Amino acid sequence: MPEKVYALGIDLGGTKTLAAVVDVTTGEVVASTRKRTRAERGQDFVSKRTIELATAALDSASLSASDLIAVGVGAAGQIDRKAGVVLDAPNLGVRDMQLGDILTSHFNRPASIGNDVEVAALGEYLYGSGRGYSNFVCVFVGTGIGSGIVQNGSLYTGLTGTAGEIGHVTIHAGGRICGCGARGCLEAYASRTAMTKAIMAEIHHGRPSVLADEAARQLKEGETIIRSGILADAIERKDELTIEVVIEAANYLGHGLAAIMNFYNPECIVLGGGVIERLDLLFETAVHRARTVALSESAKKTPIVRARLGDFSGVVGAACLSARAAGWSANHKAKR
Ligand SMILES: [Zn+2]
Repeated sequence: MPEKVYALGIDLGGTKTLAAVVDVTTGEVVASTRKRTRAERGQDFVSKRTIELATAALDSASLSASDLIAVGVGAAGQIDRKAGVVLDAPNLGVRDMQLGDILTSHFNRPASIGNDVEVAALGEYLYGSGRGYSNFVCVFVGTGIGSGIVQNGSLYTGLTGTAGEIGHVTIHAGGRICGCGARGCLEAYASRTAMTKAIMAEIHHGRPSVLADEAARQLKEGETIIRSGILADAIERKDELTIEVVIEAANYLGHGLAAIMNFYNPECIVLGGGVIERLDLLFETAVHRARTVALSESAKKTPIVRARLGDFSGVVGAACLSARAAGWSANHKAKR
């Protein structure tokens, strides 16, 4: 049996931080820990919490930092990959954070930092639904909407490192204002945040819904995101409002996917994120809409599949990114 090679993978997202010890030769998650990120508490808290979670993952795997080949992070923001710096990450409350140096000096292992969506795409490429494809796009629907582009087996990041920002493609000129400041962006219509806002607004205007109590609780506790499981439950209970909002979001998402199919003509589109995983209605409606509006050949032939690693795409990808940067190279033959 080939020897195991361990790396730490950290997925630093706007809502939660997930840390895992990963055997990069198989993509197996040996141990993992997670906590809410709490970006509002500031940069020092975020870096302290990241180290705390990574240490807890090592402990629960009964390993120490010296057993690791490297430490990798996927962070929700703009990254200077060479310098290991998180340049700007409004969802994490972080700016110019020298996360690579912080992790290297704490764990005494080489560290690599990437964007959260691109490392998740790498995870799906190596050990998930992207195996066997050299040119594909991974779209992740969460707080926002992002995508990772795999081109000839490598991540394509573009001139300024921001390729794949499908969430900020305009799908409704002059439409809803987006977090980026522009109007009519895809993520202002189809992200989990957008769905939550639409549901909350309707309830606020007196529309009946099984989510009325949840909306009141969210308002009281200052939360802005309805969990995927709660949305799934409302759909199961045939809540008219939730079903309407999810179908509307799915149709917009379908237009976004059709744009990818027409423009990039990928070998496959992989869709990930908690809402995609939990809401069949969202996934199926979006795929149907994409196939209806995309140009006929790609509409017929492009496989659109769900991410296979679920919540672990990011940590597996981050671990593999760092292991590769540290010189690990398996005789990895991508297979489907
Ligand atoms: Zn935008």
